[in-house]
Amino acid sequence: MADPKENPASIQVHLSTGEGVDIVWGDEHQSHYSFAYLRDACPCASCETRRSQGPSPSLPLYHAPVRPTKVSPVGFYAIHFDWNDGHSTGIYSFEHLRAFGEGGRAEVAEDV
Ligand SMILES: [Zn+2]
Repeated sequence: MADPKENPASIQVHLSTGEGVDIVWGDEHQSHYSFAYLRDACPCASCETRRSQGPSPSLPLYHAPVRPTKVSPVGFYAIHFDWNDGHSTGIYSFEHLRAFGEGGRAEVAEDV
């Protein structure tokens, strides 16, 4: 059986309000993730490469607020987002999401 810390008891995706994702974990820890944060933290190879290159030197462009157009489960271990910017290769494993929630990153509001 999976570690309850990496096993969500509930997942709420606030698609219509654009507020992001709330996960309650098996050990009752709660994590909130904004869509912008999740899109930024996309674990796929091309986004890893983009992040490792640092901020883009081009002038800031207007981007519509990022949000998923579709959210789907991947087996029992991950969720997948189709983003409104056309990107959809990232698979967000629960292990990964839990680690984001533990990391004390600025955009992850922790209910402590
Ligand atoms: Zn990506």
